[in-house]
Amino acid sequence: MARTQGVGPLRCAAWLAMVCLAAPAQAGSGSCPDATATAPLRWTAAAAANIAPAQQPPAPEPAAAGTYSQRLAPTPAGWPVRDHWCVWIEPLREPAGTAAALRERQWLHAVQQALAEWQQLLGITAVEDPDQAQVRIWRRRPPLQRLSDGRTRASNGRAVLQLLAVQRQQRWQAEPRVEVLIGTTQNPRALQATALHELGHAFGLWGHSDQSADAMAVQAGPEPVLRLSARDRQTMQWLLRQSGRLQLPPAPPESPAAARSPQPGPTAD
Ligand SMILES: [Zn+2]
Repeated sequence: MARTQGVGPLRCAAWLAMVCLAAPAQAGSGSCPDATATAPLRWTAAAAANIAPAQQPPAPEPAAAGTYSQRLAPTPAGWPVRDHWCVWIEPLREPAGTAAALRERQWLHAVQQALAEWQQLLGITAVEDPDQAQVRIWRRRPPLQRLSDGRTRASNGRAVLQLLAVQRQQRWQAEPRVEVLIGTTQNPRALQATALHELGHAFGLWGHSDQSADAMAVQAGPEPVLRLSARDRQTMQWLLRQSGRLQLPPAPPESPAAARSPQPGPTAD
């Protein structure tokens, strides 16, 4: 399968032609052992054509009632889903007592509330070192997105997926790395809805619901969705049941020295 798509930084909008509008434990703890080396999964580009059939992601289960599972798609290396996630949140920086500090705190509260919703379904451990995280939440508005017709569009949030080979406890494994960009300019409720939506992408829901009452709605309804709907929950539960999660192709990773390339910043576009 000579697909190279999905081996570099992926923005959901570019990858699935969809629109992505829309919070400590210590690093190295049992839930999030230190990542001692990290390599982009770019070597899958050469290896992808040689992946044995048994290692191809299996076909997903039929769409389940009460979900929008049929709107989700795996990456070429499998479903980017995990039972447990190590999450880093950009720390507060502004001195207390300023308007900027208030916005930061409102942002952090919204992100934490959104994480608490997803934590009902997933294991989530906050880490202090961004290099240890599979999901990194940045306090910044996504850059303008250039559309195919030349126009640009602004978004309040964006999730960018990258597939990595990561060595933890002397063992290499394939992991998703998702950069989540959420600005501070929305009102607190809208900001929380944005965080809930973008974190849904980050935790593996790379697709959208067609119903506005769902957190993962393709188009937001009149009221911000601050809680996961039954369909959101059932869709995540469906995803967690899928076999064929991310896996390494049958090629040795680069040496750790060569592999330790600096992580790109959240320059999603
Ligand atoms: Zn989206």
